[in-house]
Amino acid sequence: MASDTILQIALAGPLRTLFDYLPPKDCSHHPSLGCRFQIPFGRSSRTGILVAVKRQSNIATNRLKRALIQLDAIPLLDESDLRLLHWAAGYYQHPLGDVIFHALPGNLRKGRPLSIIKPNGLCLTATGKHVSHETLSRAPKQLALIQALSEVPGGVEKSILRERYGISPAVVRSLLEKEWIEPCQVQESPHTIETPADKITLNSEQQNAVDQVCQHLGQFKPFLLHGVTGSGKTEVYLRLLEAVVARHQQALVLVPEIGLTPQLLQRFRETMGSSVVVLHSALSDGERERVWQAVRQSEKPILVGTRSAVFTPMPNLGLIIVDEEHDLSYKQQEGFRYSARDLSLVRGQQYDCPVILGSATPSLESIRNADDGRYTQLSLSRRVANAQMPQLHLLDIRSVHLDGGLSPALIKQLGQTLASGEQALLFLNRRGYAPMLTCHACGWLTDCPRCDARMTHHRQQRLLWCHHCGHQRRVPDSCPDCGSPDLRPLGQGTERIEESLLHYFPNTPLARIDRDSTSRKGSLEKLLNQVKSGQFPLLLGTQMLAKGHHFPSVTLVAILDVDHGLFGADFRASERMAQLILQVAGRAGRAERPGKVLIQTRHPDHPLMQLLTSKGYEAFASEALEERRMATFPPYSHQVLLRAESTKASDPEAFLTQAIEIGRALPGANRVDFWGPVPAPMERRAGKTRAHLLIQSAQRQPLHLWLAEWIPEITQLPTSRRVRWSIDVDPQEML
Ligand code: ADP
Ligand code: ZN
Ligand code: ZN
Repeated sequence: MASDTILQIALAGPLRTLFDYLPPKDCSHHPSLGCRFQIPFGRSSRTGILVAVKRQSNIATNRLKRALIQLDAIPLLDESDLRLLHWAAGYYQHPLGDVIFHALPGNLRKGRPLSIIKPNGLCLTATGKHVSHETLSRAPKQLALIQALSEVPGGVEKSILRERYGISPAVVRSLLEKEWIEPCQVQESPHTIETPADKITLNSEQQNAVDQVCQHLGQFKPFLLHGVTGSGKTEVYLRLLEAVVARHQQALVLVPEIGLTPQLLQRFRETMGSSVVVLHSALSDGERERVWQAVRQSEKPILVGTRSAVFTPMPNLGLIIVDEEHDLSYKQQEGFRYSARDLSLVRGQQYDCPVILGSATPSLESIRNADDGRYTQLSLSRRVANAQMPQLHLLDIRSVHLDGGLSPALIKQLGQTLASGEQALLFLNRRGYAPMLTCHACGWLTDCPRCDARMTHHRQQRLLWCHHCGHQRRVPDSCPDCGSPDLRPLGQGTERIEESLLHYFPNTPLARIDRDSTSRKGSLEKLLNQVKSGQFPLLLGTQMLAKGHHFPSVTLVAILDVDHGLFGADFRASERMAQLILQVAGRAGRAERPGKVLIQTRHPDHPLMQLLTSKGYEAFASEALEERRMATFPPYSHQVLLRAESTKASDPEAFLTQAIEIGRALPGANRVDFWGPVPAPMERRAGKTRAHLLIQSAQRQPLHLWLAEWIPEITQLPTSRRVRWSIDVDPQEML
């Protein structure tokens, strides 16, 4: 047995084992937890991270290899960061190394050195200060730069010079060469740039929410901020951020998707200036790392980010806000399947800080937590500035002829709205022209060859496109089965609705907003700005239009198809449908003119739908929770989903059957129920056959104890090698 200083190293990837190494030769650094090491591995070398230092190893000293080098002199992650990652690895039963590497920016995952932060600003040199401005009369850009810098002795951030003064890198280079300017580290711009006079006066509900949270700064306390759409949640967040910054602490704000909430970010920037930094998936590796470092070194107090930002080291963390907490994007659906919302609560507990979950339509889980007193509920029940909540109306389309997806009643209302100079928004969560094409002669359908699904018809691109596996082909001229040229679209997508609207309102400018119409970088922002400036009386779009936007002149919202949500296979389908309806509806009537929402449905008598439209979300939620309680579904039980897929049809089920067998034999198995194996709702996808095993327990603790025993066992099963399997703790989608 080895007995010395032994490094226990975790690696990225699916391996659940940690690896023992001796410290590198001639290492001058202290081997601290959270430092990366380059280690020999098989025939090559890899980057790993130190998670423990031990005295003893199960491997004999003479067989232990030495780490090659220690890559970091100081740890990338400190003790509290590692504590969260250990917790997450245990809870989600995901390999520790993979969890840790997931938390690092790409460059650092690849073993690159932590980059030295370049000075962020420019200032005048002694010579530069005395340059006579007349000598630059022929070079207006250079003059502009000199003037901008001469106004601020401490220097100006490069980003501000670029964005606000339009200074190009070439101009900077030429003045650097003349040695009139030099790089320097610029002090952060003042935290609050808004003058007190511009400040909105909070209403009493907003003020109460701010006060309650402020009383608990410095201690862990979860809040559910349930504020109807347009109730001014963002303003509450801003006041809290100011309070946290005034205490010299940091705040983490999680948002579902940056591109879809440009207004929230814009408002944060207006108020908090460059104190705000942003982490999201569209950043380059270099940009990510800079933001990550700035926050980790406490240079920047406020981080706004999408789900993986929950892992960013923030040594002075004093507040966590999760906006739109019900949003599905907080759950990672592949690889390391964590919930950033749930982890933010763990993190708040570890850092003794308040955590605010905000939403107009909170998840049923959070509502139950508030009902049980685990979360403190803060309500914003009114819209700000006397704006009324929109009225919801169900449009019965059972025996109505739909023209291109639009009912006559809807067309009439659209006409009235447009005639009175107001904006209308139509929502359909399906892009493309039609969900499928069919042959009118023989009934052939555009089945995807690799999935149990149809290929969507994208007419503008002349494509058939499977939205599940990405498979594409050109639209055929005639039916591949019978040769008939009579191929017709079935059902509607946004492209087809656009066509109908152009037919009925040929002279009304229309903006269609979906993934296809906004695929070019910056095009979404541009479209949204045009929409806000009133250029488009008609708006049509998918989810991208549903969230967070503040379109003051929209008075009519139409939801074209909700029925799939009422009868979805997933027990969460009705919850998701209700959330979506209210989010979309929330775009209506946000200013002086009241809003109206029309929902086309073939099931106007559905009880949950009735409840939602007549009594509102809270009534809906309590009824839906009651149904869950009766059926012992979450949040009244806890679930884990084991998924398996393989190109060989019988393998997944064989593996899952064995997994049940060994699971039943383990201690504590009497406290868990096994449901399955069953074919996945989409049994074939991307050429693979897929099956599920759902495990459920009334209590979390016994389920997790049992799970920790079970996972190592199933890893050993010979059948596990023949499938791709994954474990999903608290699954949100049963796909
Ligand atoms: P939510 O996020 O709750 O849907 P927002 O935060 O987007 O609502 O607020 C809607 C609008 O109301 C914004 O333009 C915001 O500036 C404004 N607003 C917020 N609070 C107030 C207030 N107390 N008085 C007047 N306007 C307000
Ligand atoms: Zn045919
Ligand atoms: Zn497919």
